[in-house]
Amino acid sequence: MKNKRKMKLLLFGGHATRRCCFCRRPLTLGIATLDHVVPLSKGGGSSRGNLRISCGPCNNDRGDQNFEEYRKKQQSLRERCLAR
Ligand SMILES: [Zn+2]
Repeated sequence: MKNKRKMKLLLFGGHATRRCCFCRRPLTLGIATLDHVVPLSKGGGSSRGNLRISCGPCNNDRGDQNFEEYRKKQQSLRERCLAR
């Protein structure tokens, strides 16, 4: 994606940090990755509406899994961690 940095700036919207849309860890522009809600391999585009900020590990781990299902999975993992 050629305008990756531009798109990240747009999604950050002037904030110094944003949280990963899956695990909620705070991310700076340098380490944030762009995650496609509908994967490119399934016909998703690179428009703003199809992009979210996520961390590298979540992005890699998710692969082609459904966005909402993966997000729920990460949230329940997180809740389990917090409950300990
Ligand atoms: Zn994450």
